Amino acid sequence: MLHHYKIKVKGIVQGVGFRPFVYNIASLHNLYGSVCNTTEGVIIHLEGPESAIQNCIKIIQTNPPPLSQITDITIEQLPPDGYTQFSILESTATRNKDVFIPPDVAICNECLADFFDAHNRRYHYPFTTCTHCGPRFSIIEDIPYDRENTAMKPFTMCWDCQSEYNNPADRRFHTQPNACARCGPHIVLCDSSGNILQSQFDAVISQLQELLTHHIVAIKSVGGYHLACDATNDFCVELLRKRKKRPFKPFAIIVPSIEFLETFCSVTPKEKELLQSKERPIVLVKLQKDIVSPHVAPGLSCIGVMLPCTPLQYMLFHNNSQSIYVMTSANISDEPIIYDDNDAFQRLHTIADYFVTYNRQILSHTDDSVMYVVDETPYFVRRSRGFVPAPIFITHTPVHILATGGDLKNSFALARNNFAILSQYLGDLSTPWGNELYQKTIAHFCKIFDFHPELVVHDLHPNYFTTLYAQKYIDQGIKTFAVQHHHAHIASVCQEHELYDPVIGIAFDGTGYGTDHTLWGSEFLIADTRQFTRAAHFDYFGLPGGENAIKDPWKIGLSLLMAANIDDDTFFTENHEKEFVKEIIQKNINCPKTCSIGRLFDGVAALLGIAHHISTEAEAAMLLEEKAAEALTHTTSFAVPITQGQSLVVHTAHIIHEIINMIQMHIPISTIAMRFHRAIAEATIATACRLREQYSLHRVVLSGGVFHNRILLHLITTGLQQKSFDVFAPQKLPCNDGGIALGQIAIGRDMYGH
Ligand code: ZN
Ligand code: ZN
Ligand code: FE
Repeated sequence: MLHHYKIKVKGIVQGVGFRPFVYNIASLHNLYGSVCNTTEGVIIHLEGPESAIQNCIKIIQTNPPPLSQITDITIEQLPPDGYTQFSILESTATRNKDVFIPPDVAICNECLADFFDAHNRRYHYPFTTCTHCGPRFSIIEDIPYDRENTAMKPFTMCWDCQSEYNNPADRRFHTQPNACARCGPHIVLCDSSGNILQSQFDAVISQLQELLTHHIVAIKSVGGYHLACDATNDFCVELLRKRKKRPFKPFAIIVPSIEFLETFCSVTPKEKELLQSKERPIVLVKLQKDIVSPHVAPGLSCIGVMLPCTPLQYMLFHNNSQSIYVMTSANISDEPIIYDDNDAFQRLHTIADYFVTYNRQILSHTDDSVMYVVDETPYFVRRSRGFVPAPIFITHTPVHILATGGDLKNSFALARNNFAILSQYLGDLSTPWGNELYQKTIAHFCKIFDFHPELVVHDLHPNYFTTLYAQKYIDQGIKTFAVQHHHAHIASVCQEHELYDPVIGIAFDGTGYGTDHTLWGSEFLIADTRQFTRAAHFDYFGLPGGENAIKDPWKIGLSLLMAANIDDDTFFTENHEKEFVKEIIQKNINCPKTCSIGRLFDGVAALLGIAHHISTEAEAAMLLEEKAAEALTHTTSFAVPITQGQSLVVHTAHIIHEIINMIQMHIPISTIAMRFHRAIAEATIATACRLREQYSLHRVVLSGGVFHNRILLHLITTGLQQKSFDVFAPQKLPCNDGGIALGQIAIGRDMYGH
């Protein structure tokens, strides 16, 4: 008896080898019918005996291709159609573009074997790829995902490549970036003016290896340009810092293998797993031996490491398996990675001596993703290459929502139906280039996801670029909605973990605009994805000169002393501005009040003499954490009073008094730093306990950039768990402002129309 079924598969099903996979199982079961990519997903017709069809459906559901992610399968029985074969049909463009785009992933083992096999026609061809690996998001211009809608459009496949592409049994069947040395893109080595010095691949590599011993080379990778140099060469790394005008912010390194990495770092099983995953993020690991230059991660005991991800990166270590290279995003200050070839030569020629580039356009940039592991649980610092634009599934939203994110470490988000898509890392939106890229990227996302916002959600901060950008939609008759910064932080985690009842949300970060117009940053919110009550916070102190004080932690230290009424003239005497800063604090001139924990860490770092001036946000806090790590086993602490006012207030002034006492008693700085960490953690746990009594809630959500502090995250998480709280932290997104767009989406969705 002949049966006919129509199966519609939604999710990440394009560009991942779904059609050949279906073709192969259908052939194996002697079924006729068709498979087709549509903008609604993959549509399969199967005709034949009932049991064989059910078998196929089962395989599709349980064992789909490695890069696919199925979100929905609908099965419909139809009258028999009399198919005479199984065919793969051309893509059709219909209206609803509810398909996802896969992220860019590392080269697979089979392709790598082809690449290193001297008898293979892809021997040393650096754009070797197949259906299971390689670039996707970075080369897609529009959907459906067909070659003419990608950056591969200018390259016409040669006869060999075309026959692989046409053969359903081949691993490269319908692999849009399929190419070989005869027909595909090519790598060249140039000087800083763009003159081509070498274009034969093996010669490029050997010259590159040679150059990297003494020079800085810009290398075009999957998501943009990297700057590379020998990580063991002090002179080169220092030169890179000088040219990049980046004195502190750590550089990532690339190493050939885990085995080699383990000769100078300790790597936990979870860290190994992340390093080797197909997403290939940068992972922070603990340094054990001083092999790399101290300028790579100055003053820090951890280092960001990645393993090779592309054939070119593998070739860096060809006959050269003991090398370590700096591999850092080519960018200016905190902007995103540079990815356009013209931009690269214009903006990097003063930094890089040479360029290794290729003639295929990057259409979407992605910085390397960055992760760290605490108690064998992975966390994101940055979610970008390898992960973006994979969807995050959410509760259904009746309208299309655009969430504009925050102005630092920006990532915006789109949401419709039951999914949200977070953008790649867009950095700090404080430069014209950053602003332009932000708007361009939103336009690109709207195009490739066929997205038309009906609601635009933004931060409450009136002067954020992301707020002003959102307000432009009002002219088009589109509704906008403002969300308080820390509420967004908490709602993001609630959405991720599908927590629908109110929680105790703890948001510790730099600063965010509060509903009372002060700068918040130590928030205990009783919150869900609709509303929040500000239930507790740390005490306020002045931020002399406003947000600019971030660069001068000593000013914050001074302000903390004054807020605690400590009259001690021994601090910051070397700063000739001291009296002036004192005056602006006393007279309250341009000295907004904040209760930010991030700034408290900065100020305490200054009081302990760890950091007076800094070059990048969170530098002082990172160095303070590093100091504390030296006294990790030190278990004493001090109690911090908490009083009930309009909300609970944790007494920051008391913390400062304790610190000054310890300094006067000549207690080692590392011990003081550790006691400070413990005191903050204990005060946080004590506050949570009081809120549990008050509100009868036992779920705690942690968010905010301060939780990148691994000591604090560990102490607070384990401390709360010991007190029988259920603790939730962001796992799929960073805890910093890169994660707030999802919270904006959740709140926008739940408050829309209310
Ligand atoms: Zn492959
Ligand atoms: Zn070819
Ligand atoms: Fe924040």
